[in-house]
Amino acid sequence: MGYAHRPAARVASGPMPWEERAACGKYDPEIFFGTTSSDERRAKAICGTCQVRGECLASALTDRVDFGVWGGLNERERRSLLRRYAGTSDWLELVSQNGVARLVASGS
Ligand code: SF4
Repeated sequence: MGYAHRPAARVASGPMPWEERAACGKYDPEIFFGTTSSDERRAKAICGTCQVRGECLASALTDRVDFGVWGGLNERERRSLLRRYAGTSDWLELVSQNGVARLVASGS
């Protein structure tokens, strides 16, 4: 499959091994940068089926990706995590230990 929309910050470094398992590779990347709530719901539904959601979210948090849905979270939701866990240096470890759903729920 592959990754539909690698963050600009990582284009030069090439694909990460986990990107091969990304669920978004067969979809139009624009879905993940849509402007309507319908677009966002569709993107999040795809992320919800993805085997590498945690890796993707950790990558987006590490790279401070500003726009789009990554790991099933929109930019506002990621900014909330970045504020809440501001001292975090290893986002993959944090996401792996807590799981995406639990991390998101801890802020609501
Ligand atoms: S979590 Fe979403 S954006 Fe990230 S790799 Fe999976 S399908 Fe793509």
